[in-house]
Amino acid sequence: MSNKTAIVIGGGIAGCSTAYALAKLGIAVTLLEQHDQVAMEASGNPIATLYPKLSIKTNAQSTLALQGFAFTLDLLKQLPNHAEFFNVCGQIQLAYDAREQSRQNALISQQEVTFFQALDAQSASDIAGIALKTGGLLLPQAGWIKPKAFCNALVNTLNITKNFYTCIISIQENASQWQVNDENSAFIADIVVLCNANQVQQLSLCKSVYSTPVRGQINFFAPTTASQHIKTIICSTQYLSPAVDGLHSIGATYAPHNLNPDSETADTLENMRALQKISPEIFDSIQPYHAQGRVAWRSQTLDYLPLAGQMLDEKTLRAKPPRYNANPADLPWLDGLYVNAGHGSKGMITAPICAELIANVASNSALNLDKNLASKLNPSRFLLKELGLKQLANALY
Ligand SMILES: Cc1cc2nc3c(=O)[nH]c(=O)nc-3n(C[C@H](O)[C@H](O)[C@H](O)COP(=O)(O)OP(=O)(O)OC[C@H]3O[C@@H](n4cnc5c(N)ncnc54)[C@H](O)[C@@H]3O)c2cc1C
Repeated sequence: MSNKTAIVIGGGIAGCSTAYALAKLGIAVTLLEQHDQVAMEASGNPIATLYPKLSIKTNAQSTLALQGFAFTLDLLKQLPNHAEFFNVCGQIQLAYDAREQSRQNALISQQEVTFFQALDAQSASDIAGIALKTGGLLLPQAGWIKPKAFCNALVNTLNITKNFYTCIISIQENASQWQVNDENSAFIADIVVLCNANQVQQLSLCKSVYSTPVRGQINFFAPTTASQHIKTIICSTQYLSPAVDGLHSIGATYAPHNLNPDSETADTLENMRALQKISPEIFDSIQPYHAQGRVAWRSQTLDYLPLAGQMLDEKTLRAKPPRYNANPADLPWLDGLYVNAGHGSKGMITAPICAELIANVASNSALNLDKNLASKLNPSRFLLKELGLKQLANALY
């Protein structure tokens, strides 16, 4: 594919990992980002945690979480100087109430899951570096990353052209290529990948790609004598991180339909109540209600799965709906137009594996995901389901 060109719209983790996956194939990639640098929105928190939420049931979400977690860990290790922005410090999920305790008991009884360890309160405290009232599950391979540095490493390692201050407002077919436009310029390429989170559906051809902005706030505080020895990520309803660059992070809140960009006191209270439950000593050692906050929006889909893959042409599908058992190859695919978005609360472990999926589809290579799972991620799945084509939506590859 070395003579192909690609445009990636959006410089968060989805865009940066997609640009990297395509550039690795020898494709000439241009990344277009509306801000002056990468990772300014959801991917812009000072740290992100890296762990899969362990699930009792095996389903598409849990399979993607486990495979995505392993994929991101491998990817990080390929990047130069990764020790500067990636730390495998482990994560302890506390059994903070009866429901969580029984969920953890069920997980422990599933012998096939081997990568976590059950801890009592004393061992959890020893490993975490602070006194904890309950035990929980330790994931030793989990850790934290600095998302901005991760994004920069992805787009600066290979030869990727970056255009900042470029806000794409429209997209159109141009001969057998794609043209995307900002207010002043047009960019043309064989492949376009929309990695602009909740803004994907603002572009024509993508009106059916549903996701909702879900506001999240994290708060930060400087280490105190009570907190300075925290060694792992500690989770109850929220996560508490070790101090990274002189700040602990606690979060995140989850508020659909809230578009307030400012830090809210109610969210600070929610995060601080979670901190108090994890460690009353740390809570008492800081000025909890003055903790600085950062707000961003997740891009959340209805089924909690990302939107990743090639687009179908909505106009043709609606005008001439295919039969429920149509051959997927005969569907009105938009050649070269892809989406990588809808990563909800777990983009650091889902976006890179979805980027690889898109690179595989674009280069006609074997898929890195099971075909059924890859189908479940397709960005046109909600449209197919709306047209009564659920069976087809689950068998697109
Ligand atoms: C408070 C909070 C805490 C979180 N914590 C974690 C965590 O600990 N671990 C984890 O794995 N995940 C976490 N997440 C989720 C994770 O941050 C997201 O899933 C991930 O960052 C999404 O990446 P993205 O690239 O899809 O979106 P974004 O990072 O939002 O990137 C989209 C980019 O597209 C650009 N863009 C938009 N429209 C245009 C346009 N028209 N033209 C050009 N550019 C455009 C934007 O400027 C932006 O840079 C958290 C999310 C929040 C909100």
